[in-house]
Amino acid sequence: MAKFTANWLASLFPEYQGIGSVPVQIDDVFTDSRQYTHFGLFIPIEGERFDGHEFLKDAIKNGAAASLWNKQKSVPEFVPADFPLFFVEDTLEGMQRLANAYRLKINPKVIGITGSNGKTTTKDLTANVLSEKYKTWKTKGNFNNHIGLPLSILQMPPDTEALILEMGMNHFGEIEVLTNIAQPDIAMITNIGESHIEYLGSREGIAKAKSEIVEGLKQDGCLLIDGDEPLLDPVARKTRSYRIGEGTDNDYVIKSIQLSNEETTFEVENHPYSIPALGRHQAKNATFAIVTAKILGLDKSQIESGLQQVELTGMRFEKIKTTEGTEIINDAYNASATSMKASINVIKEMDAKRKILVLGDILELGAFSKKIHRSVADVIYPPIDILYTYGEESKEMVESLRKREENRVEAYSFNTKEGLIEQLRNDLKPETIILFKGSRGMKLEKVIEEITN
Ligand code: ATP
Ligand code: MG
Repeated sequence: MAKFTANWLASLFPEYQGIGSVPVQIDDVFTDSRQYTHFGLFIPIEGERFDGHEFLKDAIKNGAAASLWNKQKSVPEFVPADFPLFFVEDTLEGMQRLANAYRLKINPKVIGITGSNGKTTTKDLTANVLSEKYKTWKTKGNFNNHIGLPLSILQMPPDTEALILEMGMNHFGEIEVLTNIAQPDIAMITNIGESHIEYLGSREGIAKAKSEIVEGLKQDGCLLIDGDEPLLDPVARKTRSYRIGEGTDNDYVIKSIQLSNEETTFEVENHPYSIPALGRHQAKNATFAIVTAKILGLDKSQIESGLQQVELTGMRFEKIKTTEGTEIINDAYNASATSMKASINVIKEMDAKRKILVLGDILELGAFSKKIHRSVADVIYPPIDILYTYGEESKEMVESLRKREENRVEAYSFNTKEGLIEQLRNDLKPETIILFKGSRGMKLEKVIEEITN
């Protein structure tokens, strides 16, 4: 189904060449010239190592029907006279402007999600629930930055009714850019943690940066926030908002949270829900989805059914059973202090004879690193049996546990993956749970691959 025509693009980008009397339909938008497409608009992005403009030939070979083009660059001779090129000052800015125009043209309900932890999970939960009533499109994987977000919008099919977008950031001003492109009808701030504190100075700074999401909110839109986080009070006062959390003064109070090894059950507005994911934090993420669905007119049975069928994006508390009968929990996708503590707390509540943690460094914490790693160590106590760490920064947790007089937990640090793998092979026994968690850069999934092969 065509997304738009070259003539529509010409109304957005008035400097162009190659538009004749034959209408050109555009079905797809892509930035990777190696990707095969059908009537695609190619957007050459200038990266640190590569400049997409150098790959126009491949893009045309692979199905490009038109392209944006930086007007400072000369047009290569091989470009056919009837191939539309739209000239812009900057192709990234052009893509962002196009994404906004396409969002307004299709005009689905747009849900924008930011927060230190739980964005991807909440996005998946919300999309699953909303798809019970609407044609839904969501950010694929973790495409949540200044390139990924506009691309996610541009990839949405033209009959989309609900669009769920993840918005990530490291610095002030980034969420503002994303929210102005997306113009959400419903914005969410799932929580405030410590990620990127290096650039933002303090938790107050982080809250302020996330709060930028309301800058692009539609006039009749609303904001959903973690109501248990006082740092979000200022933004909640500024905007029509609903507070979600366990505290009894919230607009939506999450009650009776219970965990089994398979699911989390809880109540919101005296109605019971269950999700096939573990953790108090998951009950909260799910409640963001429930409230969104309620605002958009879904009934309780649609909401229940959507929550139960959720499939979360990989390496987020993914369970793997080894041949020895050990339960491995792959949560190695990424880590912040908040998410690491949340996962450790889930392990404590699960059923097993032996509970082992394999924790990698939490990166990008700058001067706060030691203090934050020690704060994670504070939640490590029995029924956790053993802690293994991998990396320089996480050694601090081992030191901290070794100094402890009571509630002792065995703790060892490893400098190499090989050493860790050798140790873990001895720990693969029945009725044992092993949690893997660390920053993306630590690549703990490599260790899992080795010991499960
Ligand atoms: P990223 O910034 O890497 O995109 P994200 O915000 O998208 O992260 P998820 O991928 O959903 O977050 O989850 C990352 C980790 O945070 C998971 O390991 C999960 O267990 C944990 N987590 C999810 N939701 C919460 C929450 N509300 N509070 C604390 N931890 C959470
Ligand atoms: Mg994410």
